Amino acid sequence: MTRIEKLCAEKGLRMTEQRRVIARVLSEAADHPDAEELYRRASALDPHMSIATVYRTVKLFEDAGILERHDFRDGRSRYEEVPESHHDHLIDVQTGSVIEFRNEDIEKLQRRVAEELGFELVDHRLELYGVPKGSKKPR
Ligand SMILES: [Zn+2]
Repeated sequence: MTRIEKLCAEKGLRMTEQRRVIARVLSEAADHPDAEELYRRASALDPHMSIATVYRTVKLFEDAGILERHDFRDGRSRYEEVPESHHDHLIDVQTGSVIEFRNEDIEKLQRRVAEELGFELVDHRLELYGVPKGSKKPR
């Protein structure tokens, strides 16, 4: 059983065979796929899969707090399993590929900024957009 399937069971979600396939595809993905890409992978495992089922299922998983949805500014929602430990993302704007990182200085700085504004930080999202060094900047 994948971690997503376990989380689904904990949340009492009824697991159909197609939901299981989508859960498995998500568990194996390390690249923050969008729904179309999830559909491509899931339909390779189950030819009866439909894009509508993929959309419905990721929405269901997202609402249940099992999936995190990202909008990396290219107009497509991308998904990942809710991570066990926090990380931030760097997006290569030329290829759309996503690099995960964690930087303790940034974590500390964000807490300090919130504190200085009179808040206790409970969450944050940080996205860096870049091009590989030495490659041409997009106009
Ligand atoms: Zn991530």
